[in-house]
Amino acid sequence: AVLNKESSILVIGAGTWGSSTALHLARRGYRNITVLDPYPSPSPIAAGNDINKILELSSSAPRGSHERYVGDKLADDAIRGWKEDPVYQGLYHETGAVTAATSERGRHALNEGDGYSEADGWRPLKTKQDFQKTMPDGVLTGDFPGWQGWTKNDGCGWVEARHALLRTIAEAERHGVSFVGGERGQVLSLIYEHGDVRGAVVVEGPAFRADRTILCAGANAARIFDMQGQLRPTAWTLAHIPMTPEETTLYRNLPVLFNIERGFFMEPDADKHELKICDEHPGYCNWETSPGDDPRHVSVPFAYHQIPIDAEQRVRQFLRETMPHLADRPFSHARICWCADTPNRAFLITQHPSYPSLVLGVGGSGHGFSYMPAIGGVIADCLEDRMDSQMKQLFRWRPETATDRDWTDLQSRFGPDGSNHVMDFQKVVGWTSVSQAA
Ligand code: FAD
Repeated sequence: AVLNKESSILVIGAGTWGSSTALHLARRGYRNITVLDPYPSPSPIAAGNDINKILELSSSAPRGSHERYVGDKLADDAIRGWKEDPVYQGLYHETGAVTAATSERGRHALNEGDGYSEADGWRPLKTKQDFQKTMPDGVLTGDFPGWQGWTKNDGCGWVEARHALLRTIAEAERHGVSFVGGERGQVLSLIYEHGDVRGAVVVEGPAFRADRTILCAGANAARIFDMQGQLRPTAWTLAHIPMTPEETTLYRNLPVLFNIERGFFMEPDADKHELKICDEHPGYCNWETSPGDDPRHVSVPFAYHQIPIDAEQRVRQFLRETMPHLADRPFSHARICWCADTPNRAFLITQHPSYPSLVLGVGGSGHGFSYMPAIGGVIADCLEDRMDSQMKQLFRWRPETATDRDWTDLQSRFGPDGSNHVMDFQKVVGWTSVSQAA
């Protein structure tokens, strides 16, 4: 059927991209939108359900390249959304950034390409004192062994992720979007009819039939639809430590500090006074062999509110190098967080070539949150078949790029020595036992 404002549209996944898509479509006047998710909103397994995320949208792709054009366009639209859209106003903290590396290889990676340079407003950081001076006295008390990097005061910072997710869902609901959470919203498979997709089968109750189906199930998308190896579900690790009210005040308005081989932190959450730290590494997969006639090597996401002991050690190592006064403080929260990498880490936003009524909005590849205000507009353009032509080309269905995919590829990520490879949850020997609210 021809798409019109009364068409039934089913969005699978109420996370970052699914909720943004629902809101954009509702604002464009679509009146029959249903969003399915296995959890009541906000989903505890959504990558976007996190206190904060880095917003650093400068592209290191060569100037004049296709990738650079797309990156810059999407960044402009996203920043405009964070600053001007009433739904997102106040959630973007333009506090600046400190970006660093430790090993020679890491430093080389940071300095190659058209990324960090004084011409682009970055200032080099070479000594321990250079790093310490990027924040108020008493914050960065560490020695920064081997660290070198860059800092910048504007055009980047962090966003209040969970608040953005909650506000997007609330605004979409206000526009009449229906969110279905729980087993009724847990999609098992799609409905295939006459060479097309006609909705989704769920765990409980009748299937949801729809004129158009948009798959935004993040790391779980490949469990619902065969992505032909284009998505590698990969998990990262995060931990929180409690801060005193005085510390929270001292830590206000800090630039984001990110060492591409160690980890990153932003200022503590103002509500709960917790500091989130992510240790940096190329990720964990959970390798299994899929059942059936065509067994495949698949990484299967699972939810867990603990992290491997080796991730805890990396978090503490990062703290010892930057803020040793916090290095031994017990965690108040920890979890693994799943995203899905495409082979080149470009998003996968496309109409499926064989199923005209199926749109895919997947492949966040570790950098899909910062674009939240704009990404749903791209997915809505895709549904309406009016995507920017260069974006359409970059984000296309591209199974040929995943033939014989190297599942161990680092995908331009780094970790400290000893964990500078994609790790396997099946081989993890111990987990933290952090007592925390779910
Ligand atoms: P999600 O937000 O995960 O949403 C997927 C949704 O699908 C969830 O709500 C889930 O419940 C639902 N779902 C799952 N299974 C089903 C099913 N069977 N049926 C229906 N629904 C289902 N990006 C940045 O830009 N900056 C950062 O600093 C940053 N930091 C990150 C840190 C970590 C630890 C991780 C893991 C990711 C980070 N990212 C960051 C990446 C970013 O979070 C993701 O790219 C983005 O959130 C992906 O959005 P999504 O909608 O595809 O997935």
